[in-house]
Amino acid sequence: MVDFVKVGAVLTFVGFLSVGSGILYAALSSPATLEQAQALGKNSGVLQGLGWIVAGIGLYLALFGSAKSDTAIDTKSEILLGRLPLRKSKFVCEKCGGDVSKETTRCPHCGSPLEE
Ligand SMILES: [Zn+2]
Repeated sequence: MVDFVKVGAVLTFVGFLSVGSGILYAALSSPATLEQAQALGKNSGVLQGLGWIVAGIGLYLALFGSAKSDTAIDTKSEILLGRLPLRKSKFVCEKCGGDVSKETTRCPHCGSPLEE
């Protein structure tokens, strides 16, 4: 199983890195001729454009990954939920709101008949 959060984080990092280096590349270079300046602008523009795309994909993957169940956050919440005492049943009486087991036909709290 691919960890989208980690892949996304790396892609975002690489994307911003290429955007930053594209800007630096353009800022630090001193082109001698007009052709060189145009080529420089084109190169750094392409680099920045690709960088933003990669960063965007990375952010999307990170968000997509964090929505999946195998992320660190979900694992932590599962651990926390596991620490909570187990409830006997998820069924609740309609009349009094008390917990009732699935097997019983009457609420142990108010005695009202339970529907399936
Ligand atoms: Zn009840």
